[in-house]
Amino acid sequence: MGAIRVAINGFGTIGKRVADAVDAQDDMEVVGVTKTGPSFGCDLAVKKGFPLYCTFDDEAAVSRFAEQGYVCSGGLSDLLSIADVVVDCAPGKMGAENLAKYQSAGIKYMFQGGEKHALTGLSYTSSANHSDNLNAQGTRVVSCNTTGLSRTLVPLYEHCGSLKVECTMIRRAADPGDSNKGPINAIKPVLKVPSHHGPDVMTVKPEIEINSLAVAVPTTIMHVHSIIADLPSGHGLTTENILELWGNTPRVIIMNGSENRITTTAEVMEMARDIGRKWGDLHEIFVWEDGVKLVGDRLYYFQAIHQESDVIPENVDCIRALMGTESDWKRSVAKTDAAISRYYGL
Ligand code: NAD
Repeated sequence: MGAIRVAINGFGTIGKRVADAVDAQDDMEVVGVTKTGPSFGCDLAVKKGFPLYCTFDDEAAVSRFAEQGYVCSGGLSDLLSIADVVVDCAPGKMGAENLAKYQSAGIKYMFQGGEKHALTGLSYTSSANHSDNLNAQGTRVVSCNTTGLSRTLVPLYEHCGSLKVECTMIRRAADPGDSNKGPINAIKPVLKVPSHHGPDVMTVKPEIEINSLAVAVPTTIMHVHSIIADLPSGHGLTTENILELWGNTPRVIIMNGSENRITTTAEVMEMARDIGRKWGDLHEIFVWEDGVKLVGDRLYYFQAIHQESDVIPENVDCIRALMGTESDWKRSVAKTDAAISRYYGL
């Protein structure tokens, strides 16, 4: 089989990152990305050599790109006609409309976490259910929060055989590039309780019993999860064993906050910038070693999530699952991550 031809519909925060991650792989290629109209984001597509398409099919919208000096190769239908799979990176809740377009083009499709599970009836994270997604026609890569929860809870569940979890999502108010969201001087509880974040884990690992609360705080980088997990009696684990378990889990970083002077999300993101991925991204979930404690059968821990980037490598693994080209999630994760590291010269 030749390289998997990937279309990216929506070249914003997630779309531009997925495009880079796909471009880094030797078994897939970006055949085009869409923008709704000419804007500064088109320059990145041009610089990267990604063919630019219009989100819409109407000629007037397509011709506006040329008026601003951009080469636009056509509308969405033109792009879908040359791709094997489309990664939908449109703002949340546009899924139903876009799904109809993908279905009429007869193409495989992936949505992001801003869409509901019901849209596709199938969701994805690499560690939880890669095999359930093999050769599927379409799926949804779960949100940054759900991805983060899965990274640490799934290996615990696999070890223990059952898990009951209560967690609080302390959420960034907006992405750094957003100018129209808040709060900027308030702490905003999500009054719909429990929040959807925790239960969303059950779309990829239904066996984990989980509920959550959520609070938005005035920061633009990272969510923090405060987690309490009840392990079944007889689990045989210690705090050290759990740290070891996560230490052997892909895409989880564990560091001692006090020893490394990395006690807040600000330092975590500074470390991410030192790693050197583009945009200062941190694909891994960050767990503070000294914030993990097992008391009896109850586990307490904190973790931090870089909301704009933890789902990016998962999108690459998900493409392989849908195309049926790699059935082993760990092999896919290793391939994805090694290629991304090489791409950025790390
Ligand atoms: P964004 O607003 O940064 O980018 C969306 C892009 O899609 C923009 O370029 C926009 O012009 C374009 N667009 C608008 N209408 C479109 C349409 N009908 N079809 C295709 N493209 C259209 O949004 P984002 O943050 O990249 O979010 C994309 C998806 O990823 C959402 O489902 C979101 O919930 C999810 N997600 C976002 C984050 C995050 O932190 N930003 C994290 C995980 C998942």
